[in-house]
Amino acid sequence: MNIRKPLIAGNWKMFKTCSEAVETAKLLVTRIADVTDVDVMIAPAFIALAQVADIAKGSNLSIGAQNIFWEKEGAFTGEISPQMLVSTGCRYVIIGHSERRQFFGDTNETVNKKINAAIQADLIPVLCVGESEQERESNETFSVLDKQLTKGLKGFGLEEPKKLIIAYEPVWAIGTGKTATDDQAQEVHHFLRTLLEKQFGDSFAKAVRILYGGSVKPNNISTLMAKSDIDGALVGGASLDAEIFSKIVHF
Ligand code: PEP
Repeated sequence: MNIRKPLIAGNWKMFKTCSEAVETAKLLVTRIADVTDVDVMIAPAFIALAQVADIAKGSNLSIGAQNIFWEKEGAFTGEISPQMLVSTGCRYVIIGHSERRQFFGDTNETVNKKINAAIQADLIPVLCVGESEQERESNETFSVLDKQLTKGLKGFGLEEPKKLIIAYEPVWAIGTGKTATDDQAQEVHHFLRTLLEKQFGDSFAKAVRILYGGSVKPNNISTLMAKSDIDGALVGGASLDAEIFSKIVHF
């Protein structure tokens, strides 16, 4: 029996003004009102977090942020603290997305600090890991993922598996229309779960949710979800439209 409740998460990236975010969130709340067996989260841009969280209040939609800074407050122009995120009604935070690693200098070390800060603030981190096309072709997939996961989670004595989400997002599959096959994804998810078992023990590893991300669409979600170690999806492009995202949630 799978003890892990699926989570379908949407990453809106740098899309939608406040009014567009509000409109989509309202539609989404109505479209997923019947869903009880799947957790649903969307991560709007910072500017829309509070408004979208207000819309989601009392519904089965949870809200996440797309990034975080690790200090509580201070002279850090342009950054957002964990406490600020909590004050908007946010429950989750995406950390170490490949676009942040690629364009904004996130490293395994800063990812580690961000995860620590999120946990301290009682936010649920969604740690993103994934190999590039070149790393896959040169057979470095597993060593890259090992480093990202182990360094990202270094120093934590986590006990509650519900308070951590891992997202496997092969960089070559993000926004490209190329999806990892269900077997490729399953192989990696199993590998990640084995690493988690080494660090946090068997029962933690069995209960922690590992999402797949990379061109997930209504037509490929059910095949992915049929795999034993795939516990949900982190969805980019297809989460921007409430109708399409709701189809993924109803996989
Ligand atoms: C993402 O941004 O995390 C993502 C997986 O994007 P897409 O679904 O568009 O590939």
